[in-house]
Amino acid sequence: MRLTFVGSASAFSTMPGNFHSNMLFETADPETGETRRLLFDCGSDIRWGLAAMGLDYADIDAVYISHLHADHVGGLEWLGFKRYFIEQGRRIPMYLAEPLRRPLWENCLKGGMELIDFGQGDLSHFFDVEEVGTDEGFTWMGARFTLVPLVHLRGGAYLMWSYGVFLETAAGGVLLTSDCRFELDRLQPWYDRSTLIFQDCEILPNPTGAHAHYRDLVTLPDDLRARMWLYHLNCCGTTPDAQADGFAGLVASGQSFDLGVVK
Ligand SMILES: [Zn+2]
Repeated sequence: MRLTFVGSASAFSTMPGNFHSNMLFETADPETGETRRLLFDCGSDIRWGLAAMGLDYADIDAVYISHLHADHVGGLEWLGFKRYFIEQGRRIPMYLAEPLRRPLWENCLKGGMELIDFGQGDLSHFFDVEEVGTDEGFTWMGARFTLVPLVHLRGGAYLMWSYGVFLETAAGGVLLTSDCRFELDRLQPWYDRSTLIFQDCEILPNPTGAHAHYRDLVTLPDDLRARMWLYHLNCCGTTPDAQADGFAGLVASGQSFDLGVVK
């Protein structure tokens, strides 16, 4: 399986040639041998990001949603409508944590997507929705994706969760954090299981509190930083030399990683 970053930028970035941090898991269909693509988040940049890779909506076979910010869900109206109107309603699987389903429709998509040709629709008219328990996982193309619940925002007594994924491969565990704060009590157990880590990272001079910040991540032990690629990069501020600081590196837009055999 391959993991390719359609973009590696933050929500607000306007870096030329880079896009929101949405990814593609790509693998061969066990039955046909054809390439299948699971889109990890579908933000408002996605049609441009896919176009830059020579891909379009029809190349997406399934979608996973980590949380409800627009750089992760803002392209779902485009994807759903293209499927519905161009491909006669052909739906694709959508995987998401159970708590996200209602607010995804009610708070993010309903205003633009509710009224369709026959009357009032809902999320299931556009996607085959599979709700996943927050401490469970889902299987796509024979590969098991375990959900990794992490805190993205703290607002008073309220938490916004984002759900990364963890995969077991022949070479060891792979962690894709999705957007998350630097809260080691939740991250460390997943770090300990992972030989390859893709970590949300903010480099703004003034931390927003919504993302792990470079100045915190650089305090992690050497052997952990060496397994860690950083993404979700900001366009302003000074870009650090991550490799000089012991990280595996900063993920570039379009960069692709061979994950090997996923169990
Ligand atoms: Zn976010």
